[in-house]
Amino acid sequence: MNLNIYNLVRKNIQQLIPYQSARRIGGKGSIWLNANESTESNSFLLKESYFNRYPEVQPQSLILRYANYINLSPGNILVTRGADEGIELLMRAFCEPGQDSIIYCSPTYDMYKINANILGIECRNIKMLNNWQLDVEKICDQSFGVKLIYICSPNNPTGNIIRSVDIEQIIQVFSDTGIVVIDEAYIEFCEKYSVLHWIKKYSNLVILRTLSKAFALAALRCGFVIANEVIIDVLSKIIAPYPIPKPVSDIAYEALSQDSIKAMKKRVQDLIYNRTWVIKELNKNTYVEKIFTTESNYILVRFINAEKIFNWLSKHGVIVRNQNKKMFLKQCIRITVGTFIECSTLINILNLFNKYHERRNTC
Ligand SMILES: *Cc1c(COP(=O)(O)O)cnc(C)c1O
Repeated sequence: MNLNIYNLVRKNIQQLIPYQSARRIGGKGSIWLNANESTESNSFLLKESYFNRYPEVQPQSLILRYANYINLSPGNILVTRGADEGIELLMRAFCEPGQDSIIYCSPTYDMYKINANILGIECRNIKMLNNWQLDVEKICDQSFGVKLIYICSPNNPTGNIIRSVDIEQIIQVFSDTGIVVIDEAYIEFCEKYSVLHWIKKYSNLVILRTLSKAFALAALRCGFVIANEVIIDVLSKIIAPYPIPKPVSDIAYEALSQDSIKAMKKRVQDLIYNRTWVIKELNKNTYVEKIFTTESNYILVRFINAEKIFNWLSKHGVIVRNQNKKMFLKQCIRITVGTFIECSTLINILNLFNKYHERRNTC
């Protein structure tokens, strides 16, 4: 009995630092503004009570509804366990471990790097420019051996849209050698910036979507890969045999009814109103150094003293996402926009911080 299981684990898994999800980090409080979830939702009821049969490999009625929603054909769509599964499927299908590379641009969503690390695929991290736009020149310089380029727009955690001229240039430069993946997890908050209309034009473009954010269904675990039929067929070969549980596809189907889409759009409008208000109030706060432009349901803020602010908010039951230890995000905190009451509570607690510290400084 002296088998050390750990020695059997693949080297890259031994060294792996798992994704620090909001749920994993946790926290204590009643106001959760740390995971970019929707704080409001419609309710759903399951129509069926028996689950003894395997589900469809790909739920056709759901695909039809989503195709209708995005105005493309069902053959352009794969349903996945969240957008996260799409990120991974692409690497498994296209990247030879130890040989091919992916590109991503920091600061951005961590799962591109983590999936690549798990699979043993080399990463090239091309730092964003100071305005959080792509360093197109460097990306093109580093194109050798790159099969996938992950671009998140609007970008998490910075919040900004990536310029579509840059995206198009990269798609064109990689047209014979690589696939450009645009992660549009937050695109419903700024629909006009979607690059969906290029799916028919560029065969090396893939778009990732999810029901976790604007559709308010993070617990459902339902996402979509959108691409030309060839890519969808390839991904269908490697996806799990029955990836989408029946309750999931049934609820997702309901979430894409005309009424539910209307409700989603209303939530988006309310959220944008709250976001504008929070930004206006944050601007008055002397501990705020910079509020980054956002088109999404969260705001990246650089404070003078992020750790203190984070702890103060925690102590008062408001959980936000501390980015201070992340590359290029010193003193930054990402705040999900919640209901108006949550937003005003957040602002009150931040203002209380100012009052408390000003009083101490004058004593
Ligand atoms: C939340 C998020 C995802 C994951 O979405 P799921 O559908 O919940 O897996 C993917 N990409 C980005 C940028 C996200 O913020």
